[in-house]
Amino acid sequence: MSHTRVRFAPSPTGPLHMGGVRTALYNYLFAKKTGGKFLLRIEDTDQKRYVDGAEEYIMEALKWCGILWDEGPDTGGGYGPYRQSERKDLYHQYALQLIKSGHAYYAFDTPEELDAMRKQLEAEKGSNPQYDSSSRMQMRNSLTLSDDEGNHLLGSQEHYVIRIRMPEDEEVLVNDLIRGEVRVNSNLLDDKVLFKSDGMPTYHLANVVDDYLMKITHVIRGEEWLPSAPLHVMLYRFLGWETATPRFAHLPLLLKPDGNGKLSKRDGDRLGFPVFPLQWKDPNTAEISSGYREAGYFPEAFVNMLALLGWNPGTDQEVFSMEELIHEFSLERVGKSGSKFDPEKAKWFNHQYLQSKSIGEISQQVAAQLEKNGIQADSTKIESVAALMRQRANFIDELCEQSMFFFKAPETYDPTFAKKRWKEETPGILNEVSGLLKELNPFDAQTIDAALHHYMEESGHGAGKIMPGLRLALVGSGTGPDVKDIMAIIGKEETISRIEKAVLIVSH
Ligand code: GLU
Repeated sequence: MSHTRVRFAPSPTGPLHMGGVRTALYNYLFAKKTGGKFLLRIEDTDQKRYVDGAEEYIMEALKWCGILWDEGPDTGGGYGPYRQSERKDLYHQYALQLIKSGHAYYAFDTPEELDAMRKQLEAEKGSNPQYDSSSRMQMRNSLTLSDDEGNHLLGSQEHYVIRIRMPEDEEVLVNDLIRGEVRVNSNLLDDKVLFKSDGMPTYHLANVVDDYLMKITHVIRGEEWLPSAPLHVMLYRFLGWETATPRFAHLPLLLKPDGNGKLSKRDGDRLGFPVFPLQWKDPNTAEISSGYREAGYFPEAFVNMLALLGWNPGTDQEVFSMEELIHEFSLERVGKSGSKFDPEKAKWFNHQYLQSKSIGEISQQVAAQLEKNGIQADSTKIESVAALMRQRANFIDELCEQSMFFFKAPETYDPTFAKKRWKEETPGILNEVSGLLKELNPFDAQTIDAALHHYMEESGHGAGKIMPGLRLALVGSGTGPDVKDIMAIIGKEETISRIEKAVLIVSH
């Protein structure tokens, strides 16, 4: 399969939902896997729904994910421009071509007339009133008006639209790579508007014309577009491009965690997880929606998680780099049914990446986070902390939070833990321990461990008498990793000073 060309065609009407990112990802994986091209096309013909900043957001989000396009509004390419508003002048001729060939017509109905038609048909037929072969001859359009009347209306700048003339009782076949053959009778399809008198095409016309002119071979998009696919197939036929009709692949929906319906922005707010890749501030309401990036997710983890929401590799492997995804991906392994989004699994993926990244990379991010909290520390220390603490955390900031005591001596001591574990004899024991720690050289975990064991044997005090007190002195609570590891990282001087301070302050 050479020369595959696919596109991601978002409308800049707001931030990109994670389902949209998944659509972009599958397009990207398919293009890379087949040695083809991945295009980004901005579908901004609907001026009323245009939202400031949305296009920039979409590009930034895709770049953050590493979903990079070969052709697009900023990169150019041989089939541009890649923003539909800049292609505006191109669409009218195709609408006219359809009128000439009898596959489309002008309609002059006012909103009030359309409304009246709907009401009347509802009363007559009971259901599904639409502008179609059964009703078009009762309306005000170039099929029912005389040529003179039609031309007069067109010349008088009256509002008009161009509608497709859906044929009667024809079977339309959409061959979908995921759904198989989808057959629809054309009687169920209405005469959709293709072009408006403001000079703008509607989504359907612009989308098909651009897919054709940009030589798109596969249309991979969300399932919500499946009902439009028969119309698109008809447009290819009516425009004389039947042999260039792309293959379709309609992706199943992303579902709420409980499986009941489509994952929406409101579920994220309600259940406490982001549904957008990046944080988004609505320019009209100033409302902020959280993003995976700001929540501390690694882009690789986010992409890995999304890849598996709908596609499966056919093996138990769950962790995939982008390279591996490209290698393994195929549309045949995309399921038909919706995929439940599991926020806990998203965290699990981040945890995996936190474990597999190099200590150097993790440490840099930890250092940046610490700096935000006003803490400067040397990089060797940060590296040791990161190596010791990362398996307990899902996120960098969680790792930092759980590691603060390495960089700041405790100022308070957990009273509940102290009450239970800090005994009358604890200060005496800690004094003895700090005495022998002072003599240790080198001050590493192994030497400290040996010394503590030696002390336990000599003194007859079990670990239960020594360790909780030491831990409270070092951490300020009953949590944290092995005390010997903590000591080795914070160093001899700091260890002794923390023990001495606790002995003075903590009482049982
Ligand atoms: N502009 C449409 C959207 O926002 C594109 C649908 C398609 O891929 O055909 O989803």
